[in-house]
Amino acid sequence: MTIKTFEELKKSCTKNNLKIYEIAQIEESEVFDITVEEFRFKVEKTIQAMKEAIKNGLNSTALTNGKMGGFDCAKQLEYYKHHHSIFNKLFEKIICYALATSEENARMGRIAACPTAGACGIVPSCLISIFEEYDIDKEKQINSLITAGMIGKIIASKVATAGAIGGCQAECGTASAMAASAAAYLFDSDIDTIINAAALSLKNILGLTCDPVRGFVEVPCIKRNPFLAVHALVAFEMAQAGIISIIPADEVVDAMEQTGALMSSALKESSQAGLAKTKTAIIMEKACFTKKYYSEFKD
Ligand code: SF4
Repeated sequence: MTIKTFEELKKSCTKNNLKIYEIAQIEESEVFDITVEEFRFKVEKTIQAMKEAIKNGLNSTALTNGKMGGFDCAKQLEYYKHHHSIFNKLFEKIICYALATSEENARMGRIAACPTAGACGIVPSCLISIFEEYDIDKEKQINSLITAGMIGKIIASKVATAGAIGGCQAECGTASAMAASAAAYLFDSDIDTIINAAALSLKNILGLTCDPVRGFVEVPCIKRNPFLAVHALVAFEMAQAGIISIIPADEVVDAMEQTGALMSSALKESSQAGLAKTKTAIIMEKACFTKKYYSEFKD
């Protein structure tokens, strides 16, 4: 049976005394008709792809396809050469890794969509930063991404994780919920805490619109990724402290579906409203980034 709700997930984990990743890897191996080992190998490859995207992004200052990004990760790295974050090294890494991955995506580099390309910086930046800072072993790394995947799959069984259908809440919101739960798994949280982390993250991003400037997945998308990565860890830490989402996770997903349906299509990836139709966005659209305009913008 394919698990489609958080309630079913909790029941299955409790009844079978299994972790989320154990249930998920059995389910996925059946869906793809492969062994659990083969499935885990695919997940390991995905983690490698995430790490490569981060590495490539950290080492590049090439402009993105739409010429509205590609230089922010370098700025952030330069800043941290001379200043420490007011938080800690993990926080610095999360911001840089999320920018690096998102800029790579906007350069048409290779990334792991998680759940989508626009939201590709959120899960990797949280997970890889935690792997590095807490010296997480390979098997646990794989388990954490499988956990994230299961959370995303449950949300996606009810709501399409596409900005064009549900707004950015469905892309970056889902990614943030996935990252929050995976972080909770990495710190050995119980099933209630893992699900609650997803609920807290998702419900506090409901209504987020998708209004990309000039139709490119760059503005606001690139900078949005580090914001939502940090958002995920706030949800994780609150869940760890025992703070509960009064609205259960499945109902939060219902609310996200309803919110997406009520959202105007002008705010769902059509670039017809919001940031995409601000005065500056319209000027940029008209200028089509002449060399002069671009250099003014960059500086
Ligand atoms: S604003 Fe739209 S295109 Fe950009 S990341 Fe969000 S959903 Fe994707």
